[in-house]
Amino acid sequence: MNLRNYTCGKWNEAAGAGDILRDPVTGEELARVSSANVSWSESLAFARTHGASALRKLSYRERADLLAKMADCLAANRDEYFRISLLNSGATQADASFDVDGAIYTVKYYAKIGRGLGEGHLLKEGASIPLSKNNSFAAQHFLEPAKGAAILINAFNFPAWGWCEKAAPALLSGVPVIIKPASPTAWLTQRMVEDVVNAGILPPGAISIVCGSAREMLDHVREEDVISFTGSAETAAKIRGHENVLRRGIRVNVEADSINSAILGPDVSPSSGLFDLFVNEVIREMTLKAGQKCTAIRRIFVPRSQMQALGAAIATQLGAIKVGNPRNPEVKVGPVVNRAQQSACLASIAKLKQECSVLFGGDDQFQPLDADRQKSSFVQPTLLACKDAAVAKAVHTVEVFGPVATLIPYDAVGDLIAAVRKGEGSLVASVFSDDAAFTQETILGIGDLHGRIMAVDSSVGTQFTGHGNVLPSCLHGGPGRAGGGEELAGLRALLLYHRRFVVQGPPATIAEIAALSSDAGLLYS
Ligand code: NAP
Repeated sequence: MNLRNYTCGKWNEAAGAGDILRDPVTGEELARVSSANVSWSESLAFARTHGASALRKLSYRERADLLAKMADCLAANRDEYFRISLLNSGATQADASFDVDGAIYTVKYYAKIGRGLGEGHLLKEGASIPLSKNNSFAAQHFLEPAKGAAILINAFNFPAWGWCEKAAPALLSGVPVIIKPASPTAWLTQRMVEDVVNAGILPPGAISIVCGSAREMLDHVREEDVISFTGSAETAAKIRGHENVLRRGIRVNVEADSINSAILGPDVSPSSGLFDLFVNEVIREMTLKAGQKCTAIRRIFVPRSQMQALGAAIATQLGAIKVGNPRNPEVKVGPVVNRAQQSACLASIAKLKQECSVLFGGDDQFQPLDADRQKSSFVQPTLLACKDAAVAKAVHTVEVFGPVATLIPYDAVGDLIAAVRKGEGSLVASVFSDDAAFTQETILGIGDLHGRIMAVDSSVGTQFTGHGNVLPSCLHGGPGRAGGGEELAGLRALLLYHRRFVVQGPPATIAEIAALSSDAGLLYS
């Protein structure tokens, strides 16, 4: 099966041999992708002209209604998305739900809050600023939807949520989307887009999908376009540094990799409920989606005195978890996405082993349940312990994109903060402690290098949303190595797809434009 591309308002058969998508459990070929016969210049031009102009004729409220229809359409086909997730990503039910249900929830969320923006066609930001003594000249800031296309380049690990969390705010803004899923798992994204297209919800040109390589696409982007990228820091650097992207000053939002931290406070004893919550959260982060989450816990900071107790508690739980073919209902951890990712994980584990001891797992000859080790792509859940935190480097720099985490001991809060900061910018850190002063000092010590910090104490108990759980109402992204991007955060996500300008002129001119606008205040509420 060759996955068809949808550009210029029509489906095109993929040309050439293409890249192969496989079942990561059996190794069987499932589909192929190719962008060989896609004209990027025509595809982008069609989206900018037909798609953008049709979307911009609608108000924010009308576009929010389109999102609601999209969410209904996706929800109606949910079972099929679970089937594809199992086949192409080796996803357990929980893994598939995290991606697919997260996607549908996010589109619904934007449909709901987008209606609040009402009938405007652009956004008025802040109050009018008087610029003359007699009030004949003033200024007003506006946000206007970009008149280009949003190019959404996604990573392999969230084939459903990845495009939906970007497309919902882009479409609500009135900007057409061109979706470029990662090749290894493009099938699910392609199928979801196919369902939306076939349902006839969006105007022609508002949504396109290209499966397969997008290397030449960057030659054709223009200043009115927006690139929203999720993937590795290495690819992000290529996109940012592309000659056409630099020359035209194209807006690029980057969500890249991240060495996230979970911190156990010095006050938390192994006999406490908070300790158990911490252990459960580490286990969840290591095992859900086989650790293939950009937000997953990679570094576990623990008071030196609790190193042994925590290591034993996590290792015991890991030992009870079945890893193998997700068609077996007992299995809780499936494979990583393909053999290339498996090799990358094993190579990264080998690097970490140079400065860590193995507390659990780490066997590169690991035999999964109900799967052929030679054909599948499993990585054994692995817990490492840093031997000498003072000199360790790899634990802070090597992202193992799989079910692997490392314990790192700390003595004082100052050392802890310095060590966490060695991640050079992360998406998320979580702090589990009942010591309010410790939590506050830690948050303030690392906040500037994190997009999100989750604090849990005994009063929260089990009521927290999860270290790795990205909510549409809250900021997703992180500085430095994490890419410096900002996504979600409710309606603030629309800022990426709008351009700010200030009109300086007579109050009557400003009032005429303001009459077409909705109040941007809601974005910041
Ligand atoms: P990747 O290899 O960097 O690929 C990401 C996307 O970029 C794919 O769609 C890929 O297409 C495309 N691409 C590659 N080279 C390109 C180029 N020169 N021009 C335009 N597009 C290009 O990343 P991945 O292996 O799919 O994903 C794993 C990484 O993503 C991990 O490091 C993880 O931390 C990160 N991630 C971050 C977040 C976040 O929100 N911060 C979320 C999920 C994942 P092809 O597949 O066709 O090559």
